[in-house]
Amino acid sequence: MNEFNPPKRILMGPGPSDADPRVLRALSAPLVGHLDPAFLGVMDEIQQLLRTVFETRNRLTIPVSATGSAGMEAAFVNLIEPGDAVVVCVNGVFGERMSDIVTRCGGRLTRVETQWGHGLDMEEVRKTLQRTRPRILAAVQAETSTGVLTPPARLREVLKEFPETLLLLDCVTSLGGHPVEIDRHGVDFAYSGTQKCLSCPPGLAPITVSDRGVERIRQRKTKVQSWYLDLTMVEKYWGADRTYHHTAPISMNYALRESLRLIVEEGLQNRYDRHRLNHQALVAGVEAMGLEMLVRPEDRLWVLNTVRVPDGVSDAAVRSRLLSDFGIEIGGGLGPLKDRIWRVGLMGASSHPNNVLMLLNALERILRQEGVRLAPGSGVEAASAVFDRQEPPV
Ligand SMILES: *Cc1c(COP(=O)(O)O)cnc(C)c1O
Repeated sequence: MNEFNPPKRILMGPGPSDADPRVLRALSAPLVGHLDPAFLGVMDEIQQLLRTVFETRNRLTIPVSATGSAGMEAAFVNLIEPGDAVVVCVNGVFGERMSDIVTRCGGRLTRVETQWGHGLDMEEVRKTLQRTRPRILAAVQAETSTGVLTPPARLREVLKEFPETLLLLDCVTSLGGHPVEIDRHGVDFAYSGTQKCLSCPPGLAPITVSDRGVERIRQRKTKVQSWYLDLTMVEKYWGADRTYHHTAPISMNYALRESLRLIVEEGLQNRYDRHRLNHQALVAGVEAMGLEMLVRPEDRLWVLNTVRVPDGVSDAAVRSRLLSDFGIEIGGGLGPLKDRIWRVGLMGASSHPNNVLMLLNALERILRQEGVRLAPGSGVEAASAVFDRQEPPV
């Protein structure tokens, strides 16, 4: 068996995104013990950096040692006790996953369902809160399966009338690409993942919990049913006690630290502006080619763009040619959107004008060869025009 040499890829799917070379270098640094004073320093710095990127002062702000789904599971297993009423907003795969976890925790689930590809109906959310008076309202800020944004400010607005309800927010795809502003919007529990807009390999789930959230966990009458994700123990490992709980994935924490340093160096606002601009250029290019976006402009994510597959075109054939001929990975649709959309990620290091222009050029060539009659004028030109109207990208 030979050494594994991965093919050269440009990662423009729903995650993982491309990692910055500095992050990959950090990953390969020599190991130290997980209770080595040098590593304890790394743990402290990661907590500080995460507070900056989440825009929070929450003391309990740490990476859970597993992927984004473990962040989701940690949120619900810690906050829910059997019989608790929970409202979950569902407009894609990840709202579905939340619902599944809530019922596994013994929560009394009420779903506010919205058609996939559409923004939440906040009036419907309000009515459901009124009717069920839940302990928790949960929503996905960036629904990676559909490309729809749920602004946390609108959830907070609805929650004004329901002071007892905690707000739980999935920030897996939004953190580092869209503003999350945890404290400003009074989010009580947020979780993310490393391989989306943080541009780090998959493996850690940064979380942050408000004082109210911590209080709710302390007041539990029953033990958290997951030993590994029980935050009352995990927080002691990350806090002053350093009580051994599990062995932190050392190298992944090196990588996360470097990716967060990169974000702070770039500046949060610059980073959001970059994600917005590359999104705008991509949409201009896609539309100039005569293709259509799935989501209406006001509900669109910048970091995950969903494009309708034109009639008569095979979704899988186009994606497989993008990969084999151009080394570009994009995603296909899931569930009701299977075969109907492409999912183009512009996350973290992958959100770059080169990638936008390269993808538009590749897509245009493949679609013409597949016999699609594209609108006259080129996607690349339309996207370039958007970049030309802006400051030169860094
Ligand atoms: C990717 C993703 C998850 C799950 O994260 P994994 O790292 O795949 O476990 C959860 N929520 C959203 C919105 C995601 O995009």
